Amino acid sequence: MNLTAEDLRRAMQRGEFSFHYQPKVSFLSGRVEGAEALIRWRLPDGTLVPPNDFIPLVEAEGMIAEVTRHMFPRLLDDLARIHAERGEDRLAFNISAIELDDPGLIHLVREAIESRRLLGPHLEIEITEGVAVSRQAIIVRRLTELLETGVSLAMDDYGTGFSSLETLSRLPFSALKLDQSFVTRMLHSAKAATMVRTSIAMAQLLGIRSVMEGVETEQAYRMLLHYGCSEAQGYWISPPLALTEYLDFRGHDQVWPCSPIGMLRMAQLTHAWQYKLLVDTLFAYLEHPDNPGAIPRHLHMSHQECALGDWYHGLGQALSGDPDFDSLDRPHRRMHDLCGEMLDATRRQASRDVIRALMTDLAEQSNALSSSLQRLETRLLFEELRELG
Ligand code: C2E
Ligand code: MG
Ligand code: MG
Repeated sequence: MNLTAEDLRRAMQRGEFSFHYQPKVSFLSGRVEGAEALIRWRLPDGTLVPPNDFIPLVEAEGMIAEVTRHMFPRLLDDLARIHAERGEDRLAFNISAIELDDPGLIHLVREAIESRRLLGPHLEIEITEGVAVSRQAIIVRRLTELLETGVSLAMDDYGTGFSSLETLSRLPFSALKLDQSFVTRMLHSAKAATMVRTSIAMAQLLGIRSVMEGVETEQAYRMLLHYGCSEAQGYWISPPLALTEYLDFRGHDQVWPCSPIGMLRMAQLTHAWQYKLLVDTLFAYLEHPDNPGAIPRHLHMSHQECALGDWYHGLGQALSGDPDFDSLDRPHRRMHDLCGEMLDATRRQASRDVIRALMTDLAEQSNALSSSLQRLETRLLFEELRELG
């Protein structure tokens, strides 16, 4: 395709660009909780041009910021209509990392929030990294400012190109979208399946959501369901839809298969990890009380802050009264409380005996929690098996 700046401006004037919306389903609730906005260019003869055929050219012409400025108000209009007619969906908007060189987008988002056209939690920005940007302090600062408005940031196409561990560790992402090639290959390749599972686990340990795209079959969906990832997106649920079709689709309020089993498995991992991090911190303190080293940043002090607590006090309450479910609360609460108590004890330079007592308590709570989690997971697995016949 031979594209000039003139063609692009004409297309914008004629209103030839619009968004299609692809639903994202939560594995815990089985419901659509939002959608990704994907740009489409409809030529006067009706041909629909996919983004991969023109976005790289738009970038090469240095016009991507202009297209974003043109499309962002359309996203806000569509969001307002979806909210008025359907529900509190969160829309994801794609940007290329090179756009972050220009503060324009951040101004647009801030302006929308200040004028109350947008609430932060209703927008997610998906960043695809075509060039390495993560080392630039200015970009980290701009993204951190965006996060402060409540907007979330997802790293798109993780595992390919520049979307690397390096970028993930430097930028303040709140969700990870693994490149869809891993999801496609996981059905036939044990190695790809391991990459998917460990990426989900890594997201959990970082305290961020994991979103899997390219879910084309029920088999892939069900596999991911028990891996413990947060959301799914793909042709098996729905292709990207024009706004009116998306509104129709949401109107059916369909429920997809859902299960807390994946999350319970991940909770066993994250709580065992949190326990070990705490033990390491305390040992470092006992060895060098004056200089115990850095306090781990990803410890959750509140039992309601982690994925398990969020579920326990929310959707999980449907199981209230069940002894395996009820037995999670006490050790879980205590484990998180102990985090605060232990860090406090190191700050006020408590004696070895105090630390030893706290550690013993922590070990007991960790054991109690992990056996409750295991019991509940096994029970729910048998129940699911019975339902499948
Ligand atoms: P992306 O953000 O990774 O979007 C996912 C792409 O996968 C979309 O292609 C979507 O239609 C496609 N897809 C969804 N489900 C499936 C599935 O089950 N199987 C397969 N094989 N593919 C699936 P699309 O719409 O052609 O977009 C391509 C890329 O263009 C996007 O990749 C994104 O990087 C870029 N893009 C889209 N809209 C925008 C935009 O508004 N601005 C910018 N800067 N980039 C955009
Ligand atoms: Mg995307
Ligand atoms: Mg992607």
